[in-house]
Amino acid sequence: MEKIKNLITETILGQVELNVSLKELTSFKTGGTADLFVCPNNLMELLTVLNILKENSVPYFLLGAGSNLLICDKGIRGAVIKLGDGFDYAHAKNDYILAGASVSLAKLSAEAKNAELTGLEFASGIPGSLGGAIYMNAGAYGGEIKDVITEVSYIDNDGTVKTVAGADCGFGYRQSIFTQGDKIIVSAKLTLNKGNKEEIIATMRDLNARRKDKQPLEYPSAGSTFRRPEGHFAGALIEQAGLKGHRIGGAEVSKKHAGFIINVDNATAKDVLDLIDYVQKTVKENSGVDLEPEVKIVGEQ
Ligand SMILES: Cc1cc2nc3c(=O)[nH]c(=O)nc-3n(C[C@H](O)[C@H](O)[C@H](O)COP(=O)(O)OP(=O)(O)OC[C@H]3O[C@@H](n4cnc5c(N)ncnc54)[C@H](O)[C@@H]3O)c2cc1C
Repeated sequence: MEKIKNLITETILGQVELNVSLKELTSFKTGGTADLFVCPNNLMELLTVLNILKENSVPYFLLGAGSNLLICDKGIRGAVIKLGDGFDYAHAKNDYILAGASVSLAKLSAEAKNAELTGLEFASGIPGSLGGAIYMNAGAYGGEIKDVITEVSYIDNDGTVKTVAGADCGFGYRQSIFTQGDKIIVSAKLTLNKGNKEEIIATMRDLNARRKDKQPLEYPSAGSTFRRPEGHFAGALIEQAGLKGHRIGGAEVSKKHAGFIINVDNATAKDVLDLIDYVQKTVKENSGVDLEPEVKIVGEQ
């Protein structure tokens, strides 16, 4: 890996390091190290990195803001790519915004608010990046990213840059065409509606207050641990199974919102995985419903 690191360091200005701890790069605060960590600053650098990795048969994982991930304790083999500063932008013009994949949803929705554009209020409290939100069609309070995305540019598996219309992104409940395969989203166009700034601010405040009231935001987590099962709510099923506050190691089913597994005391990824397993088994016995993780589990256990 030292050789690959040197090859990349010679060709890009962004950060390139061996054995980087991923714990602090995720909201769950779990996980081991990445063999190689690379932060390309722009599209040219990203394409160069991908080319070098491909030529040397090094697998890679694309890390967004790390807010929907459970990274396992032995970390990630190969390279972890995190898009750098050149992908962190959002520019509003008329009724649309052009944005880079690593911009946070908070910054993106603030840009919309400042341009008096409505439609992104739902996203202002989701702690992910635009790329991660498109990848899994993030949504909250009746809104989904699919409602505002009109174009996505990405690097396809063959290393070419492509643009796809929002309508062709295969958006569904927490899924898109990006959920399968190694496509890397680099930027997107969002189309919104003209709105009233005071109303936009009021809606954002209201939604964020509701979030703070209902969710255990004071603890590390990756948001809702499980997908919403058809016809049910995961949190309600977990609560009915008597699991609120159930703990394994440093991982706990939140007492505030049973749909969240939280890291209360230096949980390992194994603690979280064991608790996920226990919750799935108990809910199945109690209500017959299968819970599927929404959190993406990556790396070596
Ligand atoms: C407190 C809390 C509250 C949350 N509330 C919500 C909510 O209300 N609604 C909701 O939908 N989610 C919620 N989440 C989950 C999370 O914030 C979203 O899923 C978010 O969209 C993940 O984005 P990310 O950048 O953090 O992606 P990451 O967690 O870094 O990655 C998730 C997946 O996306 C892929 N990915 C990331 N960027 C790219 C890219 N540029 N190109 C290709 N693939 C990419 C990664 O490879 C990975 O497979 C919450 C999480 C927390 C911690």
